[in-house]
Amino acid sequence: MSAPRSDVPIRPLLIGFPAAGLVLGFVLRATGDEQWVELVWAISTLPVLIALLVEIIRGVSRGEFGLDIVAALSMTSALLVGQQLAAVVVALMYAGGQYLEDFAEGHARREMTALLSRAPRTAMRHRDHQLEEIDVELVAAGDRLLIRQGEIVPVDGTLASSLAVLDQSALTGESLPVQRVAGEAVMSGATNAGEAFDLVAARPAAQSTYAGIVRLVEAAQRSKAPMVRLADRYAVVFLVATLAIAGAAWAWTRDPIRMVAVLVVATPCPLILAVPVAIVAGLSRAAHHGILIKGGKALETMARIRSLVVDKTGTLTDGKASVVAIHAAEGLVEDDVIRIAASLDQASKHVIAQALVAEAQRRGLALTVPTEMIETPGEGISGIVEERRAAVGGISYVRAQLAPADRELDPTQALDPPGAVVVWLAVDGRLAGRIVLADELRVGIAALLTKLRGLGVERIVLATGDRRDVADAVTAGLGLDAVRADLTPDQKVLVVLSERKAGPVMMVGDGVNDAPALAAADVGVAMGAKGAAASAEAADAVLLVDTLDRIVPAIEIARRARLIALESVYAGIGLSTLGMIAAAFGYLTPVEGALMQEAIDVAVILNALRVLRGS
Ligand code: ADP
Ligand code: MG
Repeated sequence: MSAPRSDVPIRPLLIGFPAAGLVLGFVLRATGDEQWVELVWAISTLPVLIALLVEIIRGVSRGEFGLDIVAALSMTSALLVGQQLAAVVVALMYAGGQYLEDFAEGHARREMTALLSRAPRTAMRHRDHQLEEIDVELVAAGDRLLIRQGEIVPVDGTLASSLAVLDQSALTGESLPVQRVAGEAVMSGATNAGEAFDLVAARPAAQSTYAGIVRLVEAAQRSKAPMVRLADRYAVVFLVATLAIAGAAWAWTRDPIRMVAVLVVATPCPLILAVPVAIVAGLSRAAHHGILIKGGKALETMARIRSLVVDKTGTLTDGKASVVAIHAAEGLVEDDVIRIAASLDQASKHVIAQALVAEAQRRGLALTVPTEMIETPGEGISGIVEERRAAVGGISYVRAQLAPADRELDPTQALDPPGAVVVWLAVDGRLAGRIVLADELRVGIAALLTKLRGLGVERIVLATGDRRDVADAVTAGLGLDAVRADLTPDQKVLVVLSERKAGPVMMVGDGVNDAPALAAADVGVAMGAKGAAASAEAADAVLLVDTLDRIVPAIEIARRARLIALESVYAGIGLSTLGMIAAAFGYLTPVEGALMQEAIDVAVILNALRVLRGS
């Protein structure tokens, strides 16, 4: 409904004409030059009316019907029946309303824009015992940077000083600063809230978390105008009702001015303005809490979700799996197993792969560069390491790479702790070892699920690529409605689709293997935005930080935004209808009608901005 926007900055001009005309008309009237007054008002209405007609014609040619048709009708008819003052007031209000919308949207969008405008441009790099200021684009992995007080961390890295105090509020909404000690990971985008510290870059800026967030925010802002479908649904009904009341008033009284008064009151700015404002405010508030929602449609759907499908590794579990045991086949030692597996897994972004690399580094092992890598997302990866063909991954993936004699291995024989993730390693077709990792549930998962059920989520289903016994052990006691294990990426899609029966489905996942399911879900939510991974791009919403519990505020904010948007629509329509009836019975003149309509607009827009504040 919002009038299709032209990019030309003609709006200030469009307000200028009726505003100047209105004043000039009153001055002329005061000085006794009565004969020009009506003409001045009529002429100053025309630019707005013409601009509006152009937009309407453009919209209609695209098959879009807008309520701005009512605005055009009311100006035209007011001019035709000689109500120039009413016409110019409507013109001013209409042009002003659009301005108000820009203002309100800008205000509502500020949290999202804030994320973008903070992007650091330069960094201080240590070089030959000196510091040099360089463009952030030039930072390479391994560079040692000095992060000064108040500065924003430009790249992901590891802390090289003993302590850092970071303010991550712009990313997470969490106002309490967090502390990091030497060797811990520091995420780009956080502000240094303590003393200056040294950071060793883990990856270039373009692949860091913050750049990923910026790219996602930009894409979200480019996505089409915020949800207007809600108002669309009412547009035609409202249009018909307006014309019927106006027509009836005229037929009854034969007084064209009454008809004009009805049309003027109906000029439906609240519908045009309030819904987008409420939605953008919701998106913005979510961004403040570290949840990037990519558009009004996702926000609206999120408010209505009935089923939740969650991934296990990295989503329900915290993805910081730690190695608890390494079993080497005969002729090898533990370090051989982890060295080969980790060398190969340097090429994978899977959370387990990263855990293996971290363990090898902890042991001080020298990793080599793998070649000819082929990864099957969620199953494993194979390639050449130390001139031998290696494969690392889940049991069924690795078994398929083994010589027939070795395929007999039975995963259940192992006395692994329940719920442990087991990664197998094959080298040159022989089983080389297995690595056992403890990957625990995130803290507070049970409470989180209870809260979600309180928000009306009827079904909670686990969809994992891991083995059934692992999935069952990890989720025991959580009261999930179903646990689906051993899934390929396509089978995760099927799980999402089969949950559709209950209502809109939200899927939360982190891995490349979750991307198809995230895209298939009504609302796909990706964990983390590091380098805008495939999952973050396929998703409708991204949790900018690695904390699953953010889906609760996300749903709450979405619901509140939707509720307030609906409230605005109903209140706007209700008040306008009362006004139209009053006008039809002759209780409102066209000018009074225009003023009343403006009061309704302002009230409804202020109401919509309430979304920015908590409940
Ligand atoms: P989930 O669907 O629960 O997130 P995944 O399907 O991503 O789990 O992973 C399932 C299992 O596949 C892991 O527990 C691990 O054993 C194995 N796996 C997948 N990719 C890799 C990899 N790159 N390196 C090591 N193991 C892997
Ligand atoms: Mg996962």
